[in-house]
Amino acid sequence: MPEDIKSKTLPELQEAVRELGLPAFRAGQIYRWLHQSGVASFDEMTNLSKELRARLAERYTIASAAIARKQTSQIDGTAKYLLRLPDGEYVECVLMEYRHGLSICISTQVGCRMGCAFCATGKSGYARDMTASEMLSEVQTVQRDAGRRISNIVLMGMGEPLDNYDNVLRFLRLVSSEEGMNIGMRHISLSTCGLVDRIYQLEKENLQLTLSVSLHAPNDEIRSRTMPINKKWNVETLLKACRSYAASTGRRISFEYAMISGVNDSDACARELASRLEGMLCHVNLIPVNDVTGNSFHKSPAERQERFIAILEKKGIPATVRRTLGSDIDASCGQLRRRMEEEESTYAALRDE
Ligand code: SAH
Ligand code: SF4
Repeated sequence: MPEDIKSKTLPELQEAVRELGLPAFRAGQIYRWLHQSGVASFDEMTNLSKELRARLAERYTIASAAIARKQTSQIDGTAKYLLRLPDGEYVECVLMEYRHGLSICISTQVGCRMGCAFCATGKSGYARDMTASEMLSEVQTVQRDAGRRISNIVLMGMGEPLDNYDNVLRFLRLVSSEEGMNIGMRHISLSTCGLVDRIYQLEKENLQLTLSVSLHAPNDEIRSRTMPINKKWNVETLLKACRSYAASTGRRISFEYAMISGVNDSDACARELASRLEGMLCHVNLIPVNDVTGNSFHKSPAERQERFIAILEKKGIPATVRRTLGSDIDASCGQLRRRMEEEESTYAALRDE
């Protein structure tokens, strides 16, 4: 089996180059082709001899991601991509324009095992983890299509990043390396549904990224209704890990809270949330829940969101409503892949008839 060359760190590549009997500077050249130029084949590495390119091609593969579909919002230019991985699996990415530049939301797994009730990805099941090089390819493919540098990354697409911990950490190190894409940790956010053991592990890495935690409820009774993970690690255990993380890294935790009408958006919920977060270095991000076909969750009315924010702020918890981008193009991640799968199975059924 050829090895995945773009998942190697520069020191690992230096070691591989030594084993091939090549001078050390070749490692830097190859690394820059893979990471800064984002080449898809060894033949594009024009400062290497033909013979060396052939030797590399025998031993290694270069991960890629091809654009299978793209939808662009007529309202704000947000673009949603369905990318095809080399083995035929699909993942989604979203490219958004902010004042500070282009930001990409990437996937970290093909599907997800966590099964949250409101989430399209959770509903379509889990196929496999993504490699570090595939995550890099998401950024590179979309950046090439946009024709401009992407400056920010959020790990908030399909999948639970901390359930694919080693590959995600490797990706973070590669994408932020100076000889690579050089997107600094301060420009990266990672979102988790709350894998407590991994939050403690991440705390020890002491990275300057932003940790987002999908809380979505102030207590176990409500959270367990929509998030199965809460039965393993409940709200109290999760918030204890968050306090520890914020205190030791000095980084503010961003709590995601999807407002679901009649489920978690009452004044009592806001008061309970405020009292549980009191004194923590944090911020609450309210998201109007996206309707996913086949479930019964609906957005809270705008007045509810405002009232919820007012209660949090009165108790000293900073909170904002997330700007909804691309509301005309299939909303949240996971929906496009799900639709593609439905279409493919319809095609298959027609073919088999
Ligand atoms: N697995 C990680 C990251 C991917 S999900 C996590 O759960 O945090 C990214 C975010 O989208 C999470 O905050 C998730 O709770 C939220 N989300 C999922 N489905 C949603 C929906 N239908 N409406 C609003 N937010 C949703
Ligand atoms: Fe997985 Fe996150 Fe969706 Fe939950 S919300 S199913 S953790 S992707």
